[in-house]
Amino acid sequence: MAKIGFIGLGNMGGPMAANLVKAGHDVIGTDLSADAVAQLVEAGGTAGPSIAEAVNGAEVVITMLPAGSHVRSVYLAEGGVVTTVAAGTLLIDCSTIDVQTSRAVAGAAADAGMDMIDAPVSGGVAGAAGGTLTFMVGGEDGAFARAEPILAAMGKNIVHAGGAGNGQAAKICNNMILGVSMIGVCEAFVLAEKLGLDHQKLFDISSTASGQCWSLTSYCPVPGPVETAPSNRDYQPGFSAAMMLKDLRLAQEAAQNTGASTPMGAQAQALYSLFDAAGHANTDFSGIIRFLRGKA
Ligand code: NAD
Repeated sequence: MAKIGFIGLGNMGGPMAANLVKAGHDVIGTDLSADAVAQLVEAGGTAGPSIAEAVNGAEVVITMLPAGSHVRSVYLAEGGVVTTVAAGTLLIDCSTIDVQTSRAVAGAAADAGMDMIDAPVSGGVAGAAGGTLTFMVGGEDGAFARAEPILAAMGKNIVHAGGAGNGQAAKICNNMILGVSMIGVCEAFVLAEKLGLDHQKLFDISSTASGQCWSLTSYCPVPGPVETAPSNRDYQPGFSAAMMLKDLRLAQEAAQNTGASTPMGAQAQALYSLFDAAGHANTDFSGIIRFLRGKA
């Protein structure tokens, strides 16, 4: 079992760290929130009063932070992870951040003799609590092999997507598909309503025809056809519109940096930005159907 320093014990990191404790690891956690640290202690972990104290002597460091700026500073600032841990330490960043920052931090870690992977997740808070997350991993083969058994205590699908930053690339490409396809499915239901076509009929036809996709068949944005979908619980998330907007912004930033043409991704970002600004940041992202009806 490993000695693990865990930084960022929020909605996702808290339950992930608790699952590492449950699997028998020695977890020392730190967070800006004293409450978050207290919850880890309650779960059987140890409080690290600072980043340096949490990671000093650790064999593995895991971070689960809000955005790229936090990741850059936690790893690279004076007294941060890279200046504190020993060469050979395995670093795992599970945050969802921009590809450029992810690659820059991994490069600095490699220069200091550390193995680093980016391992953003899907599965949300329920997946973090249940230990059923999917990890999309970028990094060298050797680092991936070292990380796999640690990640297995927190998730059930662990996919190696290539070199440094490719986990982040996979996550934003997937979520750009999801944002675009959800809006497409919502628009089809809104048009069907105007044409007098029943929701269930459209679902039955399209779910076995060429319009079939996950946004329709697993997460249907109208109540009825898919019992587990947030549309049946007044669009309580699920996956919030704010989270979707964050990932669409990261996708657009990456598209601009690389010169990729992603006009549908840009439209999806613009629509989720309006939805968010209209006060729906904490609505499930499938709730954008109400906005498209003009009744949000
Ligand atoms: P969160 O805001 O609940 O948790 C982030 C934690 O990081 C907070 O507790 C904060 O205090 C801590 N933190 C920030 N800066 C710090 C620092 N310098 N030192 C120590 N702690 C610091 O966010 P979350 O929902 O847990 O999400 C974390 C990451 O996971 C994000 O990148 C998010 O995009 C990604 N993600 C979230 C979900 C979800 O459903 N919540 C799903 C998939 C991916």
